[in-house]
Amino acid sequence: MYSKVYRKILEPLWENKVRKRHTLEYEKKLNESQWLPEGEILSIQWQELRKLLIHSEKECPYWQSAFKKAGLQAREIVSYDQFRSLPLTTKPIIRNHYDDLIARSYRGKTWQKATGGSTGTPLHFEYTPKSDQWRQAVTRRGYAWAGAIGGEKQAYIWGISLSKEPFVQKLKQDLHHLILRHKYFNSFACNQESMLRWQRDLEKYNPKVIIGYTNPLYTFAKFINGRSSERVIRPDSIITAAENLFDYQRAEIEKAFNAPVFHSYGSREFMLIAMECEKHEGLHISAENLFVEILREDGTPANPGEEGRVVVTDLHNYGMPFIRYEIGDLAAWSDKPCSCGRGLPMLKKISGRILDIIQTPNGKSVPGEFFPHLLKDFPEILQFQIIQKKLDKLTVKLVTANSISEESLDKINKPISEVMGEDCTIEYEFVDNIPLTRTGKHRVTISMLDQ
Ligand SMILES: [Zn+2]
Repeated sequence: MYSKVYRKILEPLWENKVRKRHTLEYEKKLNESQWLPEGEILSIQWQELRKLLIHSEKECPYWQSAFKKAGLQAREIVSYDQFRSLPLTTKPIIRNHYDDLIARSYRGKTWQKATGGSTGTPLHFEYTPKSDQWRQAVTRRGYAWAGAIGGEKQAYIWGISLSKEPFVQKLKQDLHHLILRHKYFNSFACNQESMLRWQRDLEKYNPKVIIGYTNPLYTFAKFINGRSSERVIRPDSIITAAENLFDYQRAEIEKAFNAPVFHSYGSREFMLIAMECEKHEGLHISAENLFVEILREDGTPANPGEEGRVVVTDLHNYGMPFIRYEIGDLAAWSDKPCSCGRGLPMLKKISGRILDIIQTPNGKSVPGEFFPHLLKDFPEILQFQIIQKKLDKLTVKLVTANSISEESLDKINKPISEVMGEDCTIEYEFVDNIPLTRTGKHRVTISMLDQ
């Protein structure tokens, strides 16, 4: 009942009349366009891309000269191959050409945001209110696939800012969450005591959907699965976000809550990039808002199933256009369409961050799943992190429940030594905890090599 009143009256009143935003209008369009054949979606996407390129060439000094250098005029771009001759945008390019990347007529009219900077320095960037409304609309559509719709009870296990907010601001936020029926649990405080509290509170709150950072949700799921056989928190679905999801984590979470996991892939720069639908066959790209490429090392497009670098163009951020932005993740296209019937192109899997890939002295890279897959089978290990400071030195940090047996350590060390090769020294560090990034993310592997 509440959710109907919320969606029919409260939400339209607030979004359309009070805030004068177009989010709901965009969402309505997106709910229709998702069912178009893939070819039609790609054609809409291409039209939007062309408009963006023409705008960027006219308004942004950086793009003006980039087009010139590529020997192109934005209006002449009619094929993907021509588009591909534009340079990739990287984080250093954004830092070094910040002012020249802002569109002239949007100066002073944009909002500012920064990425968490888990790799060192945060990246500052700007975007327009209109682009924000597209982002919100795309996220609303994706989350709705998992049943997370307005007015339904939702619990968030989320990295909540640790800084104390002013009283009035906090009051406003609490009221907002109350109306939305969103309940927040701070994932920074993911320990035995707090998880006991989360469990009690969630049983009482009985949310329809639980949305959370992958790692705290996984830790919480293990906690629940280890306590009793009775499952009393019964959401309809779970949305994992912000961090990579491994298959064994999905299985543990689904067991704990007896509900399907919908994985989402997003970033601070663009919000929702791709999301699983109810068929769980891959992740549908938010194609009406983003143009996504997957590229090989040499810059050519990867085939379906082939892993490559994710490169994103934001179709609606006219204030600071992000064109061919290299986000720093690896992913692969799906090789078949989704059986749900949506025409949105689909990713098969997201393999994780390029920066976190461990290299071996004999020139190979270790797949992202290797360490989590190996270490998950040792219940005495509560947390772990792999750090590569030098090519021939790997540090394995472990948080253990009590002590770990020599036998277990041998079982861990053998496959790691094999994969890293004999020229690599492996050292083990036993620590009390593993710090999270500033935004509350857990990094499984950290490579400090120049890449
Ligand atoms: Zn689907």
